[in-house]
Amino acid sequence: MSDGLGGSGLDVDDDDVELADDDDAELAAAGMYRCKCGQVKTIVTDAHREQARALGWKFDPDRCLACESYDAIVAARNEHKMLTTGEFMTLFGRAGRLHGPRLLLDAHLSRVIADETVTACIGDAWSGPEFPEQSLCRADWLDLFTVAGFTIDGKPAERPDEPVELWRGAAHDRRQGMSWTSDRAKAEWFAARWTQVDLDEGGSLYRTVAPPEALLCVNNGRNESEHVINPRGLHIRAESR
Ligand SMILES: [Zn+2]
Repeated sequence: MSDGLGGSGLDVDDDDVELADDDDAELAAAGMYRCKCGQVKTIVTDAHREQARALGWKFDPDRCLACESYDAIVAARNEHKMLTTGEFMTLFGRAGRLHGPRLLLDAHLSRVIADETVTACIGDAWSGPEFPEQSLCRADWLDLFTVAGFTIDGKPAERPDEPVELWRGAAHDRRQGMSWTSDRAKAEWFAARWTQVDLDEGGSLYRTVAPPEALLCVNNGRNESEHVINPRGLHIRAESR
């Protein structure tokens, strides 16, 4: 991030900070704190505020747009108010991509959005964070996908009526993930990337055949031909690259 303030919440897209579980004292020693939304942020000082004013920043460095979005869900619930898809998408966009899954789940469980809104947002919620399975547990994802119905690129779509051959490039202990691709070359690329990241274990190429009922959504957005599936009970086999 290049806002010159070390990620103090000025940037709408201030979400490249890991939601890691750090010790509060350690954070404070580093001039950081954990916001209510879980994000680790730089402690805002008067010097920061002064600098933000001097730079003409539109956003108040003391505000957290993710927290404000979560608060808006709570407020809507307390007022028994339904949010339109447009209203929710505004909150969803402001919260930042790391918070998308949690915000969508909160809104759904709080009954402040209609099922159509879950359908409209599930693709973006899944594709936003780099590791969506770290954002929500699998049961919560499956719950959301069940509500959303099958989608292709965020639009309701006919579920394929034939099983689909899918590939995944990952470390051995991550082979049962939900994100797969119909593009074998893409999976080989992911396997190679794992090998770069983790030299000890490395990445392998896995293959499965997913029946229609295991398919949750398809995202073509990043040219990955991504198929999100419920891998439970599927036969997953390592393939030689
Ligand atoms: Zn926050």
